[in-house]
Amino acid sequence: MTGQQVRDIVTDCQFEGDMKFMEPMSRHTSLKIGGPSDIFAIPENFASLGRLHDYLQKNDIALFPLGSGTNILVKDGGIQGAVICFSSFRKIEPAGEDGEYAYLSVDSGTVLQRLVMHSREQGYAGVEGLAGIPGTVGGAIWGNAGSFGYEIKDVLVSVDMMGAEGRIQKVRAEDIGFGYRKSGILPTDLLLRAEIKLRKDKRDEVSARFENFLKAKREKQPIWESSAGCVFKNPEGLPAGKLIDEAGCKGMSIGDVAVSTIHANFFINRGKACAADFIRLMHEVAGRVSSTFGITLEPEIKIVGRDNGNG
Ligand SMILES: Cc1cc2nc3c(=O)[nH]c(=O)nc-3n(C[C@H](O)[C@H](O)[C@H](O)COP(=O)(O)OP(=O)(O)OC[C@H]3O[C@@H](n4cnc5c(N)ncnc54)[C@H](O)[C@@H]3O)c2cc1C
Repeated sequence: MTGQQVRDIVTDCQFEGDMKFMEPMSRHTSLKIGGPSDIFAIPENFASLGRLHDYLQKNDIALFPLGSGTNILVKDGGIQGAVICFSSFRKIEPAGEDGEYAYLSVDSGTVLQRLVMHSREQGYAGVEGLAGIPGTVGGAIWGNAGSFGYEIKDVLVSVDMMGAEGRIQKVRAEDIGFGYRKSGILPTDLLLRAEIKLRKDKRDEVSARFENFLKAKREKQPIWESSAGCVFKNPEGLPAGKLIDEAGCKGMSIGDVAVSTIHANFFINRGKACAADFIRLMHEVAGRVSSTFGITLEPEIKIVGRDNGNG
């Protein structure tokens, strides 16, 4: 794709917002890894997003919805087609009350911690266990983010979603196919908005739980380093970090990617890491866990994009 083609797209679909060509994805991921995306689009309203979506479908251009990039590893060759960024969609609005419950309508690009803080301020219970999880509400729903026994699916009523054919539909939470760190949302579905149901509680109590969870998270995870959170899912009843540690992988590194010495299921970019080394380290660690315990680790992070010939 050329710069001229990108300019043509802006004109043809009357795009409103910001559109970049060959944008390094390392600027948009918490790992600070990733080659360029052909198109990086930040639509400024839902109508413009709809027109862009239409154009991409008609012209057979692949799209990738992006939250804050805190749970993805983008390969060194970057992303083919268009990355759609939801950072213009960040509204949280009250959506009614019903006895002991309060409802919120939350745009998918809203930073998850804004929702957590808003709920804390209002004394609404249900998301305090998500304290400290980076990323957006859209990304959290896509991967059913959770911690301390809390999962986003438990407070979700419904989502407004744009499917491949461009129609916006409301899908109820129970029809989304949630599981442990996963949902049935297709890679081509765009999450636009979510309805969240929270229990009215005492502000002090919600706040105290929030503080405890955040403290525990800060003690156990290297949240100040460049990572994408947990690399592997926990196999049934077993923390992957413990298995990786006991297989002797803590501190292991390839290039500038290292297994964290604080939490072995976090891989850290020490400065100039590339995706190829990250993937090699994943294979090495999974291989050691497999030969030590006979357990196959499944990735939690989502690996996207194209190779650039380095692996
Ligand atoms: C330090 C650290 C700690 C973490 N701790 C936790 C934790 O305790 N628990 C946990 O579950 N996770 C944790 N994570 C992982 C990550 O923060 C979560 O998975 C988060 O919910 C990802 O959100 P995101 O917006 O960054 O999504 P992204 O990484 O941008 O995207 C993830 C997936 O969601 C899709 N997606 C994003 N937005 C949309 C949308 N609007 N429409 C359709 N699809 C979309 C993307 O296409 C992609 O497939 C941690 C990460 C870090 C870096």
